Amino acid sequence: MFGSKKKENDPDLEGLEEVKTQLKAVFEKIPNEIPLFLFTSPGKNEPFCQGTRQLIRAIRELSPKIILREFDLGHKEARKWNAEFSPTLIFDPEHYKVRWYGAPLGEEARTFVEALMMIGYGNTNIGNQAGKILEKMRGQRNIKIFVSPTCPYCPQQAVNALKAAIERPDLISLEIIDIQANPELAEKYSAQSVPQVYVNEKLIAMGAQPEDLFMLSLEKMEQQTFFIPDSDAEEVEADLVIIGGGPAGLTAGIYGARSGLRTVIIERDVLGGQVANTPVVENYPGLTHIGGKALVDLMVTHALEYVKIFPGEAVMEVEPGEIIKVLTNRRRFLTRTLLLATGAEHRLLNVPGESRLSGHGVSYCSTCDGPLFKGKKVLMAGGGDSAVTEALHLHHIGVDVTIVHRRDTLRAQEHLIKNLSTNNIPVLYNTEIKEIRGKDRVEEVELLNNNTGDTSTMSVDGIFIAIGYSPYVELAKKIGVEITSEGYIKHDSRHRTNIPGIYSAGDVEGGYKQIVTAAGYGSEAALTIFEDLVNPYWKKEGL
Ligand code: NAP
Repeated sequence: MFGSKKKENDPDLEGLEEVKTQLKAVFEKIPNEIPLFLFTSPGKNEPFCQGTRQLIRAIRELSPKIILREFDLGHKEARKWNAEFSPTLIFDPEHYKVRWYGAPLGEEARTFVEALMMIGYGNTNIGNQAGKILEKMRGQRNIKIFVSPTCPYCPQQAVNALKAAIERPDLISLEIIDIQANPELAEKYSAQSVPQVYVNEKLIAMGAQPEDLFMLSLEKMEQQTFFIPDSDAEEVEADLVIIGGGPAGLTAGIYGARSGLRTVIIERDVLGGQVANTPVVENYPGLTHIGGKALVDLMVTHALEYVKIFPGEAVMEVEPGEIIKVLTNRRRFLTRTLLLATGAEHRLLNVPGESRLSGHGVSYCSTCDGPLFKGKKVLMAGGGDSAVTEALHLHHIGVDVTIVHRRDTLRAQEHLIKNLSTNNIPVLYNTEIKEIRGKDRVEEVELLNNNTGDTSTMSVDGIFIAIGYSPYVELAKKIGVEITSEGYIKHDSRHRTNIPGIYSAGDVEGGYKQIVTAAGYGSEAALTIFEDLVNPYWKKEGL
């Protein structure tokens, strides 16, 4: 409202009321009772116990079916249910083996609500293929998933694990471990990135996975990167297929559908691309300060009003032609046009120790993994906007962070650099990371001063790497789309590639890599596609 000024950190209470009303409507209809057993020990992890208690009390107001029983860890019920940690929250233990160590707050509140809904409705909404894998599964599996309330990807993976445990309580038990409440457990497993999944004490997945890939990894007891179902899902016909669910793809989806095109979006990973990992966004017009994941959620919700999104589908082949055939691991799409909005992947330092210690002190996501390093010493590699934004984020959550940059000046925006010096965050200029060392977690790095040629060793607990992105052009190359000498998709000013009917938008094209430009290019590409479908340029030019 004009004239009313809300302080930056004030919660949006109007929004909260709306969420409460929506949740109430859903929870009121729950048919099954949901007994929750909370075990705590006075003075042990008190803020987490308190947080869990408050959350459950608030949720109980929404439904009388949610029953909370709280016990001290010394109580005989704690021995009966094997509860050792404070707090431990056990869900309906007569029917399932699902427990939570810590408080389901922040991003994790989504997982908590999903758990209540699955138990309350007795339905996990598991997909057909994932359900089949679970049905055939044999042998007991204990899942431990490490999560953090600040990790935007964690709920997706935790919900996968919940579905498995609720569908097959005869075989599968689940422990959801909040690393902030249980740093000693995270330490024991060297779980320094989230989400991480262990099954029967073996690491089977790092990062979030699509549902069926998770179930396959659970079945095979090792990380799977590809899932091919036994039978194809239904074929989809469209005017525009968009590959990539980041800001460019989502915006193109909205514009395409609003122009009247039958539009779909395919995304193999997590929707939102790099933005979902960004701690805060302060330069998206109209939104002065918003978490990257929150912005993604707004965009996805908006896009879903218009287009169907196929998440977790990897495009394997594209056959150009008047009707373009797009084959994913699930189905075939037949489309008149194709938009490549495949974005970019974070760049690797490519130094010894980096990949071995990834997830064990080497991290590419300060939002997700930062809290694990509270009070610890880390380096941030890079000198651009990402490195500086993420160093500021780490500093603000209590991490002792030093930036390591290979040149003598940062390339980040002035405003961010000023913030660095205001917060006294040190920068080691002209310094390169040559090696990352440690037995099963990062212990030290070897640094080279490229001015003097001196090398030195520094003890650190972690290394965050934010050295830019490489465009994802593998698929474009495979189709025969031309690539520029800098490695981006070659396109004209209207986002057309060299192949008729195939277009590009966003970071995969190079140029300014801003959320707002990616969204802008997405809209431009969709408008061009609409015009070209009405009046195909390739027919005029005889292509
Ligand atoms: P970037 O701008 O490409 O910067 C990458 C940084 O990493 C550079 O300082 C570069 O050093 C360094 N680097 C690259 N390869 C390296 C290597 N092998 N070893 C050591 N250092 C290396 O990448 P970014 O910071 O991720 O930003 C990507 C895009 O997103 C940019 O367009 C940026 O403006 C945008 N972004 C914007 C915001 C914001 O507006 N708040 C936030 C995040 C990102 P040199 O300087 O020597 O090349």
